[in-house]
Amino acid sequence: MKIYFFILLFFISLLSCSEQQSQSFNVISYEMKVSYDTLNKNLKVKSIMHIKQTEPKEKISFRFTSLARITDIQLSANDKNYPVSYKFNSYSIFIDIPAQFQEYKQLSLHIEYQIPIDMFSHNKIFSVSDVNMWCPFNYEDITTIKLDIETPLNYEAFSTGDLLFSTSDKNHSYYTWKNENINGYLLIISPKNSYSISKKMIDSKELEFYFVNHDTSITNNVMNEFCKSFHCFNTIICGYKDDKLRLYEIPDSGFYAMTSRKSIMVGSLMLAKKNRISYERSIKSIFKTFDKLKNKSIFPEIVNNSFNNDSADTNYIYTQNLSWISHEIAHLWGYYYYKFNTRLYKFVTEGLAEYIRWMYIESEYGKDSLNTYISDLKYLFSKNCINTIYDIPVSMAGPSDAIQYFKGPLIFHYVRKQIGKENFISFIRTLYNKYFRKAIDYDIFRMELSKYDKSGKVIKRMEEMTEMTGELPPDL
Ligand SMILES: [Zn+2]
Repeated sequence: MKIYFFILLFFISLLSCSEQQSQSFNVISYEMKVSYDTLNKNLKVKSIMHIKQTEPKEKISFRFTSLARITDIQLSANDKNYPVSYKFNSYSIFIDIPAQFQEYKQLSLHIEYQIPIDMFSHNKIFSVSDVNMWCPFNYEDITTIKLDIETPLNYEAFSTGDLLFSTSDKNHSYYTWKNENINGYLLIISPKNSYSISKKMIDSKELEFYFVNHDTSITNNVMNEFCKSFHCFNTIICGYKDDKLRLYEIPDSGFYAMTSRKSIMVGSLMLAKKNRISYERSIKSIFKTFDKLKNKSIFPEIVNNSFNNDSADTNYIYTQNLSWISHEIAHLWGYYYYKFNTRLYKFVTEGLAEYIRWMYIESEYGKDSLNTYISDLKYLFSKNCINTIYDIPVSMAGPSDAIQYFKGPLIFHYVRKQIGKENFISFIRTLYNKYFRKAIDYDIFRMELSKYDKSGKVIKRMEEMTEMTGELPPDL
C-alpha cells in the first residue's frame, strides 16, 4: 500500500478531470529557455512548442497550470508571427488560432511565462515537477524536450533526462538538458553543494542518489532497498534498458514519490518518515479505525534496525512500506507511458507497479512473507474499506483511494495465478521491451495480455473485478 502516493494521485486526478486533450495535432518538440531570478523571485520561461496539425483547428488546448503568469503568447508559421488570445480554466489553457494560421500544418507556439519561486521553494531549493504542471506539455506524443537553464553562479540545476552541456561565466551557470518523454518532468535548482551524491553500480548500471538528508541511517536504508529491488527486477523480469537511474530527494515537499524516465523523486518527509503525526493522519484518512493486528513484523530485521517500537500498529504499517521505494522502481518495468486518459489508467499504472513490488517482496523475503502480507491487506481492507465510502471500483479510483493499491494488485495476483508466473512475467517483459519509450493505451495492454489468455476468460474476469465493490476478488 502506498499511502504516500495520495498527494501525487490527487494532482494526477485533477489532471484527469481536465478537458480532454485535442487530437488534432502532435507536439513535435518543445524547447524552453529558463532563467532563475532570485532577485525578483521568479522562474522565467520562454518556450517554443513545435506543432504538427493533423486537421485545421480554431482552438487548441493544453493541460497547464493557472499558477503560471503568462506574459506573452505568439504563433508563428512560415516566418509570420501573430499574438494570440487565450483563456484558462483551472488546469487547461485554450488558445485561439487566427484564421490565417489554421491551414498551416506546422506551427510554432511561443509562450512566455513566470512561475513564482516562493511557492515551490524549501531551504532555498526550488523544485517543480510535472504534477505542478510548470510547463504545458503533459503529452504522449512529444519527441524531444530541450531545456536551457540559466542560474546565478552559486546555484546548480538538475532535470529529468540527460545533461548535454554545462558551463559558467562571471555571473551565471548554464545547463542544457535533453529529454525524450514527457511522463514526469522535473526541475530542481539548488544552492551549490546542497546535495550529497552517492553512486552505486548494480548490474552494470549507474545508480545515483541525490540526498539533502544527512542522516545516513535513513539514506542507507533507502539506497539498500533501492539497489536490491533494482537488481531483483533486472533478474526476474529483464535488464533495465537505460544507462542510469537517479533518485532525487525533494526537500520538505511532503509524502510523495514519483517516477519518470531515469529518475525517481521522493519528498523529504516520506524519505525520512520524520513526521509521524502527519504520516499517521494520512493512513487514518484511509482506514477509519486503526485496528490492532496480530502479525506485526513481516520483516523484523529491518524493523528493528529502522524504527523504535513505540507503537505496534504504526510499526506494522511501516513494515509494509519498508520496500516502498521498490514501488517506484517497479514503475520503470510496469510500463508507465500509458496514454493519459486511457481506460483503466490507474489500474494499469499503479495496480501493476504495486503488484511488481509484491513480486519483489516474494523474491526477496519469501513466498510466506507475500502470503502473510496479502492476507493482512485483505483483513485490513475487509475491516476498514468494504461498505465505506472508500469502497469504489478500481476502474473509478481517484484521489486518496487506497483501492488501487489494494484491489488493483490483488486483481493482478489473480491474473498471475490464472496464467502462471512465467507467463505473467513474460507479459511484463514484452510490454517493457516492445513498447520502450512509446506511449500505449489499454487496448495494447489488453492485446498483449490476451496472448496468454486464449479463451479470454481471465481478462473478462479481470475487467469484471475492476468494476466491483463490496467484496474482494475471489479465487486467490
Ligand atoms: Zn506509483
